Amino acid sequence: MKIGVLKETKVGEKRVAISPSIAKKLIDKGFEVLIEEDAGSASSFKNSDYEAIGASVEKRGVVFKNATILIKINPFDEEDLKLVDKGHILMSQLYHKSNPKLIESIAATGATAFSMDAMPRISRAQDMDVLSSQSNLAGYKAVILGAYEMTKIFPLMMTAAGTITPSKVLIYGVGVAGLQAIATAKRLGAVVMATDIRMETKEQAESLGAKFISVDNTGEESEGGYAKEASEDYARRQKEAVNKSLFDADLVITTAMIPGRKSPVLITEEQVKQMKNGAVIIDLAAAQGGNCEISEMNKTVTKHGVKIIGTTISPESVSTNASDLYAKNIYNFIMHLTENNEFKWELDEEITDETLIVQEGKIRKN
Ligand code: NAD
Repeated sequence: MKIGVLKETKVGEKRVAISPSIAKKLIDKGFEVLIEEDAGSASSFKNSDYEAIGASVEKRGVVFKNATILIKINPFDEEDLKLVDKGHILMSQLYHKSNPKLIESIAATGATAFSMDAMPRISRAQDMDVLSSQSNLAGYKAVILGAYEMTKIFPLMMTAAGTITPSKVLIYGVGVAGLQAIATAKRLGAVVMATDIRMETKEQAESLGAKFISVDNTGEESEGGYAKEASEDYARRQKEAVNKSLFDADLVITTAMIPGRKSPVLITEEQVKQMKNGAVIIDLAAAQGGNCEISEMNKTVTKHGVKIIGTTISPESVSTNASDLYAKNIYNFIMHLTENNEFKWELDEEITDETLIVQEGKIRKN
């Protein structure tokens, strides 16, 4: 079977869905791999890197014409769909719940489409989970961005001129991004504190060296491993428990999200007023409304002496690693779906069922 890898067309996107090392693994498994010309160049993968491992580098039209499986990172768009036909099997993130029109357009081509972001969060799907692999990098990069924006260093430093005390970092939300942020801030020498509504994250945060700020979460159930919207009472208890660390923090990274909902406001303007002058907040939940009342997406707002950066930290900023991890997720997914290079179409198997959004022009999930 021929796998076609398309160059991303979204403005600012630097990643590519398949890296040369993963293209080689697919070829070793008996697939043919066609890469659109320059698809990897923004991620530092040259056309010749792909050719060297046996993939063929082709013009866009040839990839669409000759490949059966078409792979992207960002959702296929209307321009792509002009070249898609009923024999194609598409794999990309589709965000199908918020993109019903796109799903209808895909169905109209008669093609089949899998959505990588619809991967169920079960143990055996972990190595195919693109949301995790990319969030992990965002957690790392949030700390690096914070370190750059702060006017202090992270570690304890004893010098002839005197001792510098370590910076204090507070992380809200100990999911995939939060855990990596803890690990990265610890590695740089900060004193790290973290909190999460899900008490099962306490042990994970502590195992990475953070001090966990526990908030009584009686009555705040989670669902399928995800947080649900917290009650007002919980929000009050959380503020009481966290405020001392918040007002003492040099860097705050917020990652608290609730699937399909607006992000909870965890830091109000009143709280920002009491923070240290020169503190930095990196709000990774800004695209869903933000965890800080003041944050604005893609903006740096300085208010009450605190710099508040609203960002999603897109994995583009570490596109080489992000591409490689996305490619590994795709490889594992293809291995899961196929046997001897043929699709198994096990529609009652959970991973296949959840991710197969359109099958031969019929919408299965919306
Ligand atoms: P997420 O991005 O949805 O949220 C980030 C964190 O914010 C979560 O830990 C959540 O509990 C927390 N949060 C939400 N509201 C909060 C509030 N009011 N106050 C404090 N914290 C709040 O989460 P995620 O990173 O996608 O991960 C969620 C869980 O799923 C994690 O336990 C993760 O390990 C698990 N997971 C499992 C798999 C798998 O098994 N295949 C894959 C990915 C993630």
